[in-house]
Amino acid sequence: MTGTALNATRRAADWAALAADPQVDVLVVGGRGDRRRGRPGRGQPRGLSVALVERHDLAFGTSRWSSKLVHGGLRYLASGQVGVAYESAAERDLLLRRLAPHLAHALPQVVPIFHDTPASAHAIVRTGVALGDVLRMAAGTPAHELPRSRRIPPAEAVRLVPALRRDGLRSAILSWDGQLTDDARLVVAIARTAAGQGVRVLTRCAAEDLTGGGATLRDTRTGDTLALRARAVVNATGVWAAQNAPDVRLRPSRGTHLVLPDTAFGGLRAALTVPVPTERNRYVLALPQVDGRVFVGLTDEQVDGPIPDVPEPTDAERAFLLATVNRALDRDVRPEQVLGAYAGLRPLLDSGTGRTADLSRRHAVIVGASGVITVVGGKLTTYRRMAQDTVDAVLRATALAAGPCRTHRLPLVGAAPRRRLEALPAPRRLVDRYGTEAAAVVALDAAEPVADGMSTTLAEFVFAVRYATGAMTAGDLLDRRTRIGLVPADRAAAEEAAERALKATV
Ligand SMILES: Cc1cc2nc3c(=O)[nH]c(=O)nc-3n(C[C@H](O)[C@H](O)[C@H](O)COP(=O)(O)OP(=O)(O)OC[C@H]3O[C@@H](n4cnc5c(N)ncnc54)[C@H](O)[C@@H]3O)c2cc1C
Repeated sequence: MTGTALNATRRAADWAALAADPQVDVLVVGGRGDRRRGRPGRGQPRGLSVALVERHDLAFGTSRWSSKLVHGGLRYLASGQVGVAYESAAERDLLLRRLAPHLAHALPQVVPIFHDTPASAHAIVRTGVALGDVLRMAAGTPAHELPRSRRIPPAEAVRLVPALRRDGLRSAILSWDGQLTDDARLVVAIARTAAGQGVRVLTRCAAEDLTGGGATLRDTRTGDTLALRARAVVNATGVWAAQNAPDVRLRPSRGTHLVLPDTAFGGLRAALTVPVPTERNRYVLALPQVDGRVFVGLTDEQVDGPIPDVPEPTDAERAFLLATVNRALDRDVRPEQVLGAYAGLRPLLDSGTGRTADLSRRHAVIVGASGVITVVGGKLTTYRRMAQDTVDAVLRATALAAGPCRTHRLPLVGAAPRRRLEALPAPRRLVDRYGTEAAAVVALDAAEPVADGMSTTLAEFVFAVRYATGAMTAGDLLDRRTRIGLVPADRAAAEEAAERALKATV
């Protein structure tokens, strides 16, 4: 674990090393945590020296507010972008089978067909899932990993979605996509894998005054600064990208999810997909999660004005999501059952016209007039491909040289073939979050829950601070290393344990 472990000691050593020798090949700004993985770091044959800086914590931005799906690219097909759709399906295959089988798994999805479902809506869904099967096969994903889609009778649909409206239910379509245990955990695994390749990963380190030749780094804990020279500067700051590269124009859009107890859906065994009435090809999803939660999302609302650090869902979005999902249920999910809500901002490139829902989700790599290279847009699913394209752009724009990309063969921290993961002597819940490191969490011998009725253990907090994942505050533990913070009441209950874990280990 040592090479990949992030913690306060390593951060201090990395800052001191950069202060002593403020020069790297590539500076990456923005800590979703992936873009520097296009090539191995210093110490590897033909490697580049890379520093990744994040002004808050890993996964602080949009990446932790996603729907946590590993998409097969259907959305791109709907707009005729076959190549991009294939790219997404291929990245999904890599995540499921090689890079992160512990964090990515198959998710069954049910689209109910009622007697009053318009024939056109039915046809769109049927065609969509058939094309999804073609994409899956083209990407080489075997049916035992992601089964073929099929039509199912009402009784089977109700078994998978017990709260489904029986009245008028004609049949349903069952298909499969990828799902992440947790998006923030994927980000941390990527950052640690990069650290294992020699990348200096510095959280709470803001980059200011970016140019093609470097930036000022500011340690947001101490206020110390240093002028870092870099042969290439990558602006990977998502929805904040335009603040760091004036030639990038974004039109952010907000997507909101509600957090509900699984009991509100009678025990969901598959995702429920509900078409949005009057919209072509837009859906609200009820997505089953670990720990007895269901997320219902999502919206698509243009956002004007300053970009907040943490976006807030609106009352109108909450009402829209409940009203839409309730169309497909036997009994309504009520507003008082909602345990929490979260919103994220999509960093969409401004193409000048149309609704945000119609803007391309494809990523772009833009070399600005100042020489700063911005990578923006895309999906969490395609993070690796975005990294590869960015490093290729860096090599084209500079005199740097590096070997061929090998991240498609580099499993993330904790990864192992699914069969090996299943045989690990640790609780399934921990294996799905920590993979092969689950045993190290168990060995900490602190299995008591962080608060009554919660499944997160004190050992997970201690592991995050002392050993591996660079947590430095109670917020890091509650909101990103675990997702307890998605339910405000749970967050309040677990705060004391988080503070205790920090004091005991720092
Ligand atoms: C509601 C919603 C649902 C989504 N669902 C899915 C999904 O299910 N599957 C999927 O594949 N994709 C999904 N996406 C898309 C995906 O989440 C985003 O495309 C992706 O997370 C964007 O990552 P990013 O690294 O570009 O930005 P971010 O994750 O926002 O990272 C940027 C980071 O830069 C940091 N930063 C900013 N300025 C500075 C600075 N000056 N110095 C240092 N650091 C700085 C920020 O603090 C932030 O942490 C969804 C998006 C939204 C909004």
